[in-house]
Amino acid sequence: MFYKSTRNSTINVNSATAITQGISAEGGLFVPNEIPKITLEEFKTLAKMNYSNRAAYIFKKYLTDFTETEIQYCTENAYNTNNFENESIVEISHLFDGTYMLELWHGPTCAFKDMALQILPYFLTTSAKKVNLNKKIVILVATSGDTGKAALEGFKDVDGTQILVFYPENGVSPMQKRQMTTQDGENVGVCAIKGNFDDCQNGVKAIFTDEDIKKKLEERSLIFSSANSINWGRLLPQIVYYISAYTSLVEDNQIELGEKINIVVPTGNFGNILAAYYAKQMGLPVNKLICASNINNVLTDFINTGVYDRNRKFYATISPSMDILVSSNLERLLYHLTGENDKQINEWFTSLVSEGKYEVTDDVKNVLQKEFYAGYSDDEQTKDTIKSIYEQYSYTCDTHTAVAVKVYNEYKAKTGDTTKTIIASTASPYKFSASVLEAIDEGNKITDEYEMIERLNELAKFEIPESLAELKDKEIRFIDSVEKKDMKEYVLKKLGI
Ligand SMILES: *Cc1c(COP(=O)(O)O)cnc(C)c1O
Repeated sequence: MFYKSTRNSTINVNSATAITQGISAEGGLFVPNEIPKITLEEFKTLAKMNYSNRAAYIFKKYLTDFTETEIQYCTENAYNTNNFENESIVEISHLFDGTYMLELWHGPTCAFKDMALQILPYFLTTSAKKVNLNKKIVILVATSGDTGKAALEGFKDVDGTQILVFYPENGVSPMQKRQMTTQDGENVGVCAIKGNFDDCQNGVKAIFTDEDIKKKLEERSLIFSSANSINWGRLLPQIVYYISAYTSLVEDNQIELGEKINIVVPTGNFGNILAAYYAKQMGLPVNKLICASNINNVLTDFINTGVYDRNRKFYATISPSMDILVSSNLERLLYHLTGENDKQINEWFTSLVSEGKYEVTDDVKNVLQKEFYAGYSDDEQTKDTIKSIYEQYSYTCDTHTAVAVKVYNEYKAKTGDTTKTIIASTASPYKFSASVLEAIDEGNKITDEYEMIERLNELAKFEIPESLAELKDKEIRFIDSVEKKDMKEYVLKKLGI
């Protein structure tokens, strides 16, 4: 197996190179040259394995330059009960008839990003050894909340790495800020930026491409890398839980082996749902992939019209991890749907930069609509959904997951489709307790974040994750805050340059 770039099909690198580089030199994303298959017979084999071994089994098909021992080293260090609440790693909750919540938030930071960011550091350091990088990897992250904390937890005290996270001073929730500023580990750093998320992201991008810094790093055997979802090493681990969940449902006699299911995903950067698409291409029996957005509904419009247009107002919503106007992983999907037409991808994505939009061909639009259904939920609808599933099923879900439930209900009403369905549940409700309480405990006057968690606990009746409960008594380690123009200087200082 080798990896090509979506903007240059002649590029041909092994997985270790794709993972250490993160993004291809000409700006394209790495994709596998073929999608390996998984047979129904193999699902039976997988059923007998634990999560870590299921992951290893699937990784072996993609990381053909890794040895079995290397893959095992990565999966065992990531998917264990030091990092995750339970042996099962993910949990499946039966919501209502034929509808299952795939809870992907039982990791250290209570959001689904742990599923990939717990293993990425091991993929990255193993890959670096394989390509003889012999350099310390410096991870720079710009975050609007969830990614920063998940990356910090993933990379803390991992040999050969150092991580620096930038977040917008007034752009993350109090809980998210506390999660990051109390982070432990010897190789971690966190800094607020006086600006918004875009300022953080642009600052980080500018540092990545700064020739002066690059030279200085080289002289000291350091190299930058990124932990965001354009890295193949972050996408690949997400394929596993769809296959694993299907296997578990078969094992549990909830579905027949070979029976098709729908998958609903609350979507932002299009990483999570793309992983479900890859799982389907591998042979997972999937009927429809349902793409759920909040009011930043660029993807809904795109899937329904074939026009991707980012020229629109940006809304800050109660599902902030989906507040995004440019979904970078869509590029991978379009590369596959155009028959790996790199020229076409270059045209569209150049137009996205210059015009803020592009329109796909009718052929692509037709396949897109065959594979995907798309819809969205505004904040009021999201809160109504949290309330109604709390009242009907005594199930408390977070704001992002509720977006998915709303869109799924709408899909079902519109199509009458009764196919059994997995809904990706992407965060613990405790992580967004203010909004969840607004939905199920209207009129409460609580302002303190910890009191909110306590109150939610009374209502939701499942345990507060220890990693959130303990934050209250944790010492704040990081108080730095800099102007966006000073980010470069800050990074150099932190690296001792
Ligand atoms: C990141 C995130 C999403 C969006 O996932 P994508 O892979 O970017 O589409 C949804 N929900 C939560 C809680 C997240 O943190």
